[in-house]
Amino acid sequence: KTFEELNLSEPLLKAVYTSKFVKPSRIQEYALPYLLRDPPEHLIAQSQSGTGKTAAFALAVLSRIKYENDSTQALVLAPTRELARQIVMVFKELGQFTNAQIYEAIPEDGQRSAVMPKSHVVVGTPGTISNMLKRGKIVREGVRILVLDEADHMLDLQGLGNQSNQIRKLLSPDTQVIMFSATWNEHILKYATNIMNGKFNHIH
Ligand code: AMP
Repeated sequence: KTFEELNLSEPLLKAVYTSKFVKPSRIQEYALPYLLRDPPEHLIAQSQSGTGKTAAFALAVLSRIKYENDSTQALVLAPTRELARQIVMVFKELGQFTNAQIYEAIPEDGQRSAVMPKSHVVVGTPGTISNMLKRGKIVREGVRILVLDEADHMLDLQGLGNQSNQIRKLLSPDTQVIMFSATWNEHILKYATNIMNGKFNHIH
């Protein structure tokens, strides 16, 4: 398949070719059609790092943003700040010809209170994102998509798993949940059952 056949918009096509991606990776080819379904459906995609998974969910999210609206529409959870930073870079690169505003959630350090710029997509660790949601720094009403990257790592760690659950509960029930995970384990299955009501697509 080609990127054109995946129905990406012109600005996204231009960005993938600027990134010198010749064709979609396997995970992009399989995941994007599910991720772009209307009405949205939950997805659990099993794939390792290095397979193009970040671009897969970034392209899906960037395809779904309503750019005329400047509310936060997608949250991306990652187990570490380092990974969050890398995800932000991928979003910025693939969104360079769109008007997407992408923001990395920075923990407050007590000295300064983080100012939340207008952003369509906020990427961060579950702790920081849940804090920002609770304090109203991220307006939760507009959020339509929740992505969990390296979901197996996050849900294995008790704290991150609980925070991810809390975040899900703060969002509208019809939020699309997208999980990328290298492995399939009981935490993933439990989360999927509780949070996705057991209704999800699973690809690997
Ligand atoms: P990830 O699985 O997100 O860790 O991505 C691994 C690497 O694959 C990154 O350096 C991307 O720039 C690259 N990549 C993602 N999609 C493609 C593609 N369709 N063609 C070639 N490289 C890609």
